[in-house]
Amino acid sequence: MRRNYSREVSQSLGRTRREFLRDAAGVTLGSALFRPSWARAAVASSKRKVVVITFGGGARDQETFMQEGQENIPHLMRELIPRASFFTQVVNHGILGHYVATASLATGVYETFNNFAAVSPESPTIFEYFRKDLKRPSSDAWVVAPSNGFNRIGESTHRSYGGGLGARVILPKRLLTAATSGGSHDYQHLLRDNYESPYFTPDLVGNEFELQQLENILKLSVDDFKSHAQTLSSPDELSVFIARRLMRQVAPSLLWITLHDIDVAHAGAYSLYIEGIRRTDRLCSELWNAIQTEPEYAGNTTLFILPDFGRDADDDAGGNGFQHHRTGDTLSRTTWMLVAGPAVREGVVFDRAVDSLDLVPTVGSLLGFNAAFAQGKPVHEVL
Ligand SMILES: [Zn+2]
Repeated sequence: MRRNYSREVSQSLGRTRREFLRDAAGVTLGSALFRPSWARAAVASSKRKVVVITFGGGARDQETFMQEGQENIPHLMRELIPRASFFTQVVNHGILGHYVATASLATGVYETFNNFAAVSPESPTIFEYFRKDLKRPSSDAWVVAPSNGFNRIGESTHRSYGGGLGARVILPKRLLTAATSGGSHDYQHLLRDNYESPYFTPDLVGNEFELQQLENILKLSVDDFKSHAQTLSSPDELSVFIARRLMRQVAPSLLWITLHDIDVAHAGAYSLYIEGIRRTDRLCSELWNAIQTEPEYAGNTTLFILPDFGRDADDDAGGNGFQHHRTGDTLSRTTWMLVAGPAVREGVVFDRAVDSLDLVPTVGSLLGFNAAFAQGKPVHEVL
């Protein structure tokens, strides 16, 4: 998997990102040694909550952090990065397919299953560690996932875990399909499921179970849901609407939201890709504001934002610029992570290499569970 990866290129990418952020968002380079002792004790661990936002399909720096791209991410640049610890070099050494990569982020192990199969991860997920160690009910860990292919991401097949210990997974598109009985053309733009493979079109038929989730858990009538959905312009807007509803009605302590609009880049239309980046930027800010205003989350929630991986470099013949992530080159593997919350230093950037697998042990240290089979290391700068 490391065939095309160069540590030097990755380091230099991280340093360049740091320079762009320092100039535009006024952040300073963080020292791993300095740690304010008051921060950790501020929130009792039993009250802490974590929200993780991942993007299925990152963006290149040209359209984001570089000077000419910054206009596409005003919320990240002006609202979020100045309030966050930002890691400029997060390296994914695994398979660059969205489901398998997101599952790897959630297990802390590079999963190796076929990306286009709706299977469970083999290693225990963050949700299982959290629920088993801390004895939390199923209502306390939720995933909002973009595609029906993600419906098994909440629970592994691991024999020490699995078996009813996972997260509840909500698939907004399936909810919408159930609410409209699969028949209405008004909602087709919200139901697009996969930008990569025309051959992978998972069954999105909704059923009675989804309608019960809608009414009993989200407290939404079918009619209210349908009329609200008509005001939304993309699948990610639908996901964020559902996530906010979950925060209000259920307030899970561990909430994982996977966005996917940027991956429209595969279709090759640059304007749609830019639109996806701008929308994602706005939706991240919307979720951050929801955390600040929902009483169950305000003051006790740490937010993690990270793309699953990046996109190919322009100069790679197989890469075709912004469009794909097929080469496994260093740019497509070197992404970033933003962490914000009450015990996290603000306006600080770190450019040491962090591994995609470090997320699970980091959340484990924060919430107080042991990610026993995860292979990453806690990112101590945010603990
Ligand atoms: Zn993709």
